[in-house]
Amino acid sequence: MANIDELTAAQVAAGVAAGDFSAVEVAKASLDAISKRDGEVQAFLQVSADLALAAAEKTDQRRAAGEKLGPLAGVPVAFKDNMHLLGTRTTCASKMLANYESEFTATCVQRMLDAGATPMGKANMDEFAFGSSTESSAFHRTNNPWDTERVPGGSSGGSAAAVAAGEVTVALGSDTGGSIRQPASLCGVVGMKPTYGAVSRYGVVAFGSSLDQVGPFGRNVADVALAMNALTGAGRDPYDSTSQDCPVDFLEHLEDPVEGRRVGVVPQLMEAEGLTPEMRRAIEGACRMLTDQGAELVEVELPNIASAIAAYYVIAPCEAFSNLARFDGVRYGYQEPGCATLAEQSSLSRAHGFGEEAKRRQMLGAYLLSSGVYDKYYYPAQQVRTLITNDYKRAYEKCDVIVLPASPRTAFRFGEISDPTQMYASDLFTISNNIAGNDWASRVRAAPGTGLQGPEPAHLRPCRRARRRRHHARARLCREGG
Ligand code: GLN
Repeated sequence: MANIDELTAAQVAAGVAAGDFSAVEVAKASLDAISKRDGEVQAFLQVSADLALAAAEKTDQRRAAGEKLGPLAGVPVAFKDNMHLLGTRTTCASKMLANYESEFTATCVQRMLDAGATPMGKANMDEFAFGSSTESSAFHRTNNPWDTERVPGGSSGGSAAAVAAGEVTVALGSDTGGSIRQPASLCGVVGMKPTYGAVSRYGVVAFGSSLDQVGPFGRNVADVALAMNALTGAGRDPYDSTSQDCPVDFLEHLEDPVEGRRVGVVPQLMEAEGLTPEMRRAIEGACRMLTDQGAELVEVELPNIASAIAAYYVIAPCEAFSNLARFDGVRYGYQEPGCATLAEQSSLSRAHGFGEEAKRRQMLGAYLLSSGVYDKYYYPAQQVRTLITNDYKRAYEKCDVIVLPASPRTAFRFGEISDPTQMYASDLFTISNNIAGNDWASRVRAAPGTGLQGPEPAHLRPCRRARRRRHHARARLCREGG
């Protein structure tokens, strides 16, 4: 068979179904690529060779028995290490969960397996998905396969690097504020953060429950579409109350021309401080490519987007603090030995089980949710969230898609960004999408031709006093929280 990094997911599945090569051969080729390249790249925290070979054998047996194979038959897939897979540890790249054995398999992982995928292992990440460079993993860094002195992005850096290095064909990551799109961009692969609720998060360790979303990485758009169909095809997951039916065939329109499509550009963001000239040139080049093929560029405004980072770094730490409160050194996770009291055990387990960034986020969340402070930050941040959501709704009335960079710069060197707030600032282009959620149902309501478009109904429009209140809240947030 051809080198595994030369085959797309569709080609692997077709080859396995046709008997050109077996799923076991593909799994072995992937294991081989991992053992040759991962010493340098370090994308994996755990390689599940036994699980992979057993799954591949099962796929081959099903073929031999004349059964119809799934659309990802034999495709080697890596999973971010915040996703449960029975038979592997789920560590979230944290000392806190270093020995945690998955108790069950996450729905997103199961759906990939149901489609025939071969599970190659668990990919490195920033600890509990806090970060943009995978440098906060408690175990080791992951190197960008294109230049090992540079970061692969994060927090799903291991997933992106494993695909870019040709160790696997597809990988899953999670995106709370950019953690699929940014590492995909920094590693030169395709990554998709689906609409909030499109993919089940049951069995994925939560970071920010109102923001988290699972999505795939691939070496091309078609592979990502194939994986999206596998993730959403079976409909909403009853185990995740936030999941929705996603009535889209992601492969259906892949070949459609872009002619006549309205592509939204946000001039205000293209002028944003920190966007490097090379990134700006790349975006402009992409826009030119689209217009050359007949797409129309439309300028759209996202007037409140400048407040997105401030709002995110209030909402996300608050949710993270609530979600990570369960790691108390009593029920599961790291337990400090030799403590005299329960309080000491809990506090020392957390002090020694979490890394620096995980502690910073939780301390921030604890402070922001404390009485007296809550009203000043959390509440206005939620108001800003509504404003940003409405900005997107209005923008999508004027265009079909919006073009934004995933990152202000290309892959940076290890240690180059040591100030956390500078790292946070680099999320400018991605986090507003998580904040807005771009909820499928509201998009359908606003879709052209439904007759449900137009200005906000008068009874939903804020009165003058409410508008003034929002304005002051926003200004305060920018002053104090930004
Ligand atoms: N960089 C963002 C953060 O650190 C996003 C992380 C993510 O999407 N998981 O919060």
